[in-house]
Amino acid sequence: MKKLEQIYEGKAKKVFATDDPSLVIVDYKDDATALNGKKKGTIAGKGSINNRMTNHLMKMLEKNGVPTHFVEEISDRETLVKKVDIVPLEVIVRNVAAGSLSKRLGIPEGTPMRKPVIEYCFKCDELDDPMVNEYHIAAMGWANDDQMKKIAEYALKVNSLLIAYFKNVNVELIDFKLEFGITTDGTLVLADEISPDTCRFWDATTHEKLDKDRFRRDMGGVEEAYEEISSRLLGN
Ligand code: ADP
Ligand code: UDP
Repeated sequence: MKKLEQIYEGKAKKVFATDDPSLVIVDYKDDATALNGKKKGTIAGKGSINNRMTNHLMKMLEKNGVPTHFVEEISDRETLVKKVDIVPLEVIVRNVAAGSLSKRLGIPEGTPMRKPVIEYCFKCDELDDPMVNEYHIAAMGWANDDQMKKIAEYALKVNSLLIAYFKNVNVELIDFKLEFGITTDGTLVLADEISPDTCRFWDATTHEKLDKDRFRRDMGGVEEAYEEISSRLLGN
């Protein structure tokens, strides 16, 4: 597989074309942003951790019946994936109140909820990813009803699989963000990443944060938190 020209550079990853039009290579950076790009920094080692953790989890999800874009890890930071047209939604699943939900609804962080909550945000940096509902999504044509049914079904399945998986390493899965896309053969698959950048992980005993909130909130111990969650999951 030949790595060809860069087709996109985002805040955390670059995407490269390959000599197969149905495949691209994602290259994970150490760059970190928060507050929709207003806060910038680097987290040493993050690119490699996020790449390896994402691939590890996507393989586990695939085995359990969730189709993903994963094809092959080609280096510490680079992975070959199926090229998709991204559904322009951030699909957020929450088990415990935190972050923007806590602010919006006045519910203290750490409050467990009776059942998982799914939220959708329109992926648009200029608008700060505004929250939308199924009516907006259908009305704008961002995804059709059949795709939305699958997205909700996969999101809840990913949630139960990840909860159980992280429980094994004494980590509580508070919330996370997924992205889905359509492959060149028309299949809806889970894409993008699953990492401490996109999930909230708390130590189940101490409630210590092991994710990007340490960077967003200037808490210190950022690299250490990424190393800790990575070593619990990947054992290195
Ligand atoms: P952002 O665009 O928000 O800054 P990243 O830095 O993570 O985010 O950039 C990666 C980009 O690649 C994102 O826009 C993401 O939606 C997109 N992407 C993820 N997986 C795939 C894929 N399999 N095919 C094409 N694009 C993808
Ligand atoms: N999230 C993400 N990218 C975004 C927004 C949110 O990966 O652009 C993740 C975030 O890491 C958390 C979950 O989605 O695990 C819910 O985030 P929230 O809406 O609470 O936003 P935040 O507090 O991060 O602004």
